[in-house]
Order: sequence, then C-alpha cells, then structure tokens
Amino acid sequence: MLEITPIPAFEDNYIWALINRAAGTAVLVDPGDARPVEAFLAAHSLSLTGILITHHHGDHIGGIAALRADRAIPVFGPANESIASLTDRLRDSDKRQLPGNTTYAVSVLEVPGHTAGHIAYRVDEHLFCGDTLFVMGCGRLFEGTPAQLYASLQRIASLPAHTQLFCAHEYTLSNLKFALTVEPSNEALQARAFKVASLRESGLPTVPTTVAEELETNPYLRCHSAEIRANAEQFAGSSLANEVEVFAALRRWKNEFR
Ligand code: ZN
Ligand code: FE
Repeated sequence: MLEITPIPAFEDNYIWALINRAAGTAVLVDPGDARPVEAFLAAHSLSLTGILITHHHGDHIGGIAALRADRAIPVFGPANESIASLTDRLRDSDKRQLPGNTTYAVSVLEVPGHTAGHIAYRVDEHLFCGDTLFVMGCGRLFEGTPAQLYASLQRIASLPAHTQLFCAHEYTLSNLKFALTVEPSNEALQARAFKVASLRESGLPTVPTTVAEELETNPYLRCHSAEIRANAEQFAGSSLANEVEVFAALRRWKNEFR
C-alpha cells in the first residue's frame, strides 16, 4: 500500500510524501524546503529514495540541493525546463519505476501553462499535478497561453473520475469564494463550501480532490456553463467566442479578485 501524506511548507505549500511503510522509504514531490522534510523523515524513521519535480519555481525545487547533499538519490523533472541537479529529464508518456519502490510505476503527463514545461506524475489512480490544477482553481499563467493551460486542465479532467488529484498549494478557500462568485447557483459548489470550511476550521488539508469533484465545482473546468459564460462576458465587457476565451477571462478576473 502506498501511503500519501502532505508535509506543509512555507505559507501554503504541500510537499507530498509517497511512503512505503514496510520498506521505511519515502519519495517526495516538489520539496521546496528541506527543513520540514528532514524533520518529517526523522520523526517517521523514513529514508528518502527519490524526488519528483513538477516545474522550476523556487517553492517547488528549493530543497533539492540540501536533500541531495548526503544522499545519492534520483531527481525526476521536466525535460523542457532548466533545473539544476535533475538526474532524469522526463517527457510526456515517459514511464519509470517509483524510485526505491519496485511495486509502483510513475508515468508523466505534460501539462504546460503555469510554466512552459510543467509536468504531472501519475501513480496508479493518483495524480501529482503541481501548480496546474488546484481545488476549485488553477495555476496562474506565467509562461503559457490560455489555450495551453486550458488543454492541460482538460487533460486532467479526462482522467478516470475517481482519480485523486494532489495539488501543491492550499488555495481552496480563496478559490471557493471566486467559484461562488462566477457560478452562484451551482448546488454542488454550495454543498462543497460547508465541507471545505469545516476541514480548514479543523486545520486539515482540503487536498487531495478528485476529478469527479472538480468537474462539478471547478469553474475552469466548467467554461461550458451558461451562468459562468454570462458572468465572464460581463467581466470582459464583450461576448466570448468559445470556452478558451471564457477560460482566459476567468483567469484574468481571478488575478484581480479579492
Ligand atoms: Zn509554481
Ligand atoms: Fe507553487
């Protein structure tokens, strides 16, 4: 059994630990900071066998050097981004054994948009999607076009409905507020509001989410909704020709939304 646990870092990052209890080993996704990771490994008597990197931002790669200082472990990452100390530069559809864990394979999906070379890792029915999709939200467009990020989100949305999505940030409450603004009559969204509010009040993560839950509540996956389109057109001040234009308007709107 693969056990997946978040290690909180910085303000709102989650460094995901994929733990093999029987072997006493762990693989990390996006260790932006080595300190909370070292404390976690020590507390749980785990040895680190590998690192998976989704994209080049500092809050995702900042801990690599310190973690590798006295460990000769593999570091997987995107072929299309320049990140020092990667041992395996991966492209779409590449498949590898999960480092130090012979039971599980990991396969790669290229999901550009937040950054130009962003990748996601699929392990069984789990997807580690970095800063591409968040609970009821999506990453900012730093390097890609709206059409690129929209296609990447559609790709994630087309995975089996029960696929669990492990995002790299806890942005849920802010995303929820925006989602309720752009689609107030969505009942699934209203129901989810209670659930995520009570999780956060108890100090618990709202991640992972599932493809099914996101299809019902994530506005960026709901650009076909008449209500969302109407609100996006009002924000844009013009009619929007297709779902990518609705998506682009939503993303611009969220950037200035408080
Ligand atoms: Zn990022
Ligand atoms: Fe990030």
